[in-house]
Amino acid sequence: MNAEEFRKYGRQMVDYIADYLENIREREVVHKVTPGYLKKLLPNEAPENPEDFAEVFKDIDKFIMPGVTHWHSPYFHGYFAAGNTYPSILGDMLSDAIGCIGFSWATSPACTELEVITTDWLGKMLALPEEFLHCGPGNGGGVIQSTASETVFLCLLAARNKIVDKVKKESPDIEEKDILSKLVGYSTDQANSSVHRAALLGAVRMHKLNSDANFSLRGETLTEAIEKDKKEGLIPFFLCASLGTTGTCAFDNIEELGPICEAENIWMHIDAAYAGSAFVCPEYRKYMKGIQYAETFSVNPHKWMLVNFDLSVMWIKNSSYLVDAFNVDPIYLRHTNEGKVPDYRHWQIPLGRRFRSLKLWFMLRSYGVSGVQNYIRKHCQLAKDFEKLILDDGRFEITSETVMGLVCFRLKKGNKLTEKLLSEILEDGKIYMIPAFSRGTYFLRLAVVAERTTTDDIQYSYDVIRRCADKVLSSSVDSEADEPVVVDIDLPRKKSSVNGDNRDTVRVNGHDK
Ligand SMILES: *Cc1c(COP(=O)(O)O)cnc(C)c1O
Repeated sequence: MNAEEFRKYGRQMVDYIADYLENIREREVVHKVTPGYLKKLLPNEAPENPEDFAEVFKDIDKFIMPGVTHWHSPYFHGYFAAGNTYPSILGDMLSDAIGCIGFSWATSPACTELEVITTDWLGKMLALPEEFLHCGPGNGGGVIQSTASETVFLCLLAARNKIVDKVKKESPDIEEKDILSKLVGYSTDQANSSVHRAALLGAVRMHKLNSDANFSLRGETLTEAIEKDKKEGLIPFFLCASLGTTGTCAFDNIEELGPICEAENIWMHIDAAYAGSAFVCPEYRKYMKGIQYAETFSVNPHKWMLVNFDLSVMWIKNSSYLVDAFNVDPIYLRHTNEGKVPDYRHWQIPLGRRFRSLKLWFMLRSYGVSGVQNYIRKHCQLAKDFEKLILDDGRFEITSETVMGLVCFRLKKGNKLTEKLLSEILEDGKIYMIPAFSRGTYFLRLAVVAERTTTDDIQYSYDVIRRCADKVLSSSVDSEADEPVVVDIDLPRKKSSVNGDNRDTVRVNGHDK
């Protein structure tokens, strides 16, 4: 493709994208394909000779779009938000064109420096303590990672390194392998599955602690666990606290947990992947009280702050725990300005890194702090509107408090019928939701996801649910479920859908998404 063709097809693609996003309501929110659908449509080998891009373009609608789930449709209510905006898309376009591999400052100074500036901007917007900022008093700062999962793994490794060093210093006779075999980390039973995966990857124990009636991890529970584990000779070293859990958007009580971690020399990481974006609004900051006790904090702007995947930000108070822990500097990566600015390769797992701060910068300048606040408040209000519709209906109940953009509800008549209701909704295909299961209760999660969602859209989604409930309730014999059968792998709607990848049920107790 030459520059002329690039201009032509680039314009065509931008038009295609704008049409796609502006008219997304008209599409069926979930695909109707079955696994292997694409293999039947595409050749088995790459083309031997070049093809005209016009031909390729035609195939987007023909082959790709039928297999797409439209996450930015206002009728997509599954999981949590996935951010996306035009400035963010433009940022990724430019990043792709520059295509630098910004592992050190010297490989493209703008790539590192814009990341330092934008993560400071964002940290200030979220009212993080100064210690988390590059411009703060210590050597803290923010860094863009791909995902919250990567961040929790990295923080666990840094914490592991820190405790091993400390124990070695105190007791030089203990061998490292013996220290490692005694380490224990903690999280709530509501934590995202990535937290336990981090422990598996990091080869340390991780105890899931019971949350209270509001799905919040409390200090007393942590204290009991620490005491029990210490008696057994274990070494507590890490806590992943969640602000806004995936299942019900619950908040661990970090004001209680923080001082315990401080006293016990436990690294407190805070996973605020979804809810952290709301801290841009002062009225939600009550949920981050105790933040000063955290070593690390993470938020996914790619979830709920208008930036497309992938852009997850991690802040650390003392970056030397990362930089010193994993520094393997060969000569070919060195440069003369080392030490004056972060060399972000030390702050992450891969060596290479994209120029991701561009899309954050474009978005922040296009929306401003007030624009981001309006967006968050609008989603929270729409969730409240939906909650009201559901409660006024009379046949539903709310299963956990609606705090942000997520409503958890079910039919009063119980698990079995709520399950049937979801089957009916998914069969109907006009909106998309996923269920969750917790402490014997099966419920539905309606997340307000798309930037374009309006009051009318929420009314529409409620109307779909009401209609499906009419159908389910009129055809049911009055029965309350005994043991609920959790929809495990495949959604009831289509037994063989590509969706059947285990992600469609959030299990709030035990395993999760
Ligand atoms: C979505 C989510 C994650 C995982 O986010 P990734 O960036 O996809 O790894 C982690 N924690 C919570 C609370 C989440 O909601």
